[in-house]
Amino acid sequence: MTIGAVLVANRGEIAVRVIKAAKALGIRTVQVHSAADADMLAVRLADEAVNIGPPAPKKSYLNIEAVIAAAKAAGVDAVHPGYGFLSENGDFADAVRDAGMIFIGPSGDAIRTLGDKVAARQMAKRAGVPTVPGSDGRVAGLDAARLFAGEIGFPVMLKAAAGGGGRGIRIVDSIAQLEQQFPLASAEALAAFGDGGLYLEKVIARARHVEVQIFGDGQNFVHFFERECSLQRRRQKVWEEAPAFMLPADMRERLCMSAVALAREVGYRGAGTVEYLYDDETGDFYFIEVNTRIQVEHPVTEMITGFDLVQEMFKVAGGAALSVTQRDIAATGHAIECRINAEDPFKAFQPSPGTITSLSVPEGEGIRFDTMLYEGYTIPPFYDSLLGKLIVHAETRETCLEKLAAALTALAIEGVPTTVPLHLALARDASVGKGAFHTRFLEQWLVHDFPALAGRTQEVA
Ligand code: ADP
Ligand code: ADP
Ligand code: MG
Repeated sequence: MTIGAVLVANRGEIAVRVIKAAKALGIRTVQVHSAADADMLAVRLADEAVNIGPPAPKKSYLNIEAVIAAAKAAGVDAVHPGYGFLSENGDFADAVRDAGMIFIGPSGDAIRTLGDKVAARQMAKRAGVPTVPGSDGRVAGLDAARLFAGEIGFPVMLKAAAGGGGRGIRIVDSIAQLEQQFPLASAEALAAFGDGGLYLEKVIARARHVEVQIFGDGQNFVHFFERECSLQRRRQKVWEEAPAFMLPADMRERLCMSAVALAREVGYRGAGTVEYLYDDETGDFYFIEVNTRIQVEHPVTEMITGFDLVQEMFKVAGGAALSVTQRDIAATGHAIECRINAEDPFKAFQPSPGTITSLSVPEGEGIRFDTMLYEGYTIPPFYDSLLGKLIVHAETRETCLEKLAAALTALAIEGVPTTVPLHLALARDASVGKGAFHTRFLEQWLVHDFPALAGRTQEVA
């Protein structure tokens, strides 16, 4: 069955991205929105819009009953969850299917197995994929936590089984800290994710974040190569690249095939990402988690492979077989994505909602700006601060960085402070130029290098 009409159960730039893919396929679009989002770009672009509740996410975008009711009333035959919100909620996927519609993503069971970070670790082990040394499952209590920490050695990470978006992770350096942090972390996870389950992992110092884009139709499983996402702040990605430029060819092959093995293990359907930590020096890699949805940074993969991953999601969800085999997928050139947030990088990244008074977007071959913005739009204060993503593609990493700096200079968002100056300084930084960074690099660079660099770039500008 092909999909005739879709409900977009998300907001912001990803809702816009999903609508564009649906339109390209001739699919009717129905956009949900909270009372605070009646003016958002996705509402303007969609064929129809439905108010599903008050601004608070729990009462709107996370309200399963409200979303299902909107989908039924609009007469759609499918629901696209985007990323965040209900996208990795297996019960939501089941509820959509129980209501007789297509959930554009994997089965509820696959989401529960892979989206739960503890269950996914066990699945990875079964599939022969190396994992970070740590606890075998959820840690029952403080006694068990002490035992595991003693085995793997400090520092260790306390991670929420249901965490995501960089939230629900703490580093502890000693038994005393563990005893203090464990109950706090568990209570916080329960409040934030509705699940207080915790597990322990050894801290891998100086690692890179490398992840593989997977795709399946339940029978066939492929990868679309990998991404390098080490530039992070508070464990959230800030800047992403494809390919992971420092990976030797044999390592790339092993990493990508291990991700495909995992997809096969669960008969995966749709788009997903397998995340790893990779140690440059030893060549070791460790599985960390699977995201059973489209990711924020999927455009860098689209730029180097030439495929539209969101359109492919629609086709596979509609019952078609994957339109490609592994041999059809090749990567050319280099792509970089900068996440543009409504945050002030000169004031500790304070969120900065407000009205966009003027917007000027760079254009050209190999330049893409995926955004929720338009002139006159007022950013509401209730949601995350991602405004858009600037993505640039060029033949080599070096030319890509040059093109990125030019595109960032041409991107003018007036009315609110954004992270554009941060990205411009990164694009011109010598260490970034050499690709010499790891997951802890950006936070150190923000303290030691950014103030001076930003001063200089401001003078130049
Ligand atoms: P990606 O790997 O796609 O960059 P992130 O982990 O940065 O994914 O999350 C994408 C979006 O989803 C962000 O807006 C993030 O805040 C949100 N998100 C992801 N998982 C969760 C979760 N468990 N709870 C709340 N928000 C989440
Ligand atoms: P989330 O679900 O919030 O995305 P992840 O488990 O993917 O959480 O971890 C987010 C980031 O935290 C990683 O990209 C990495 O930078 C860091 N991280 C996670 N686990 C470890 C670890 N064991 N050692 C060192 N860094 C880690
Ligand atoms: Mg992650």
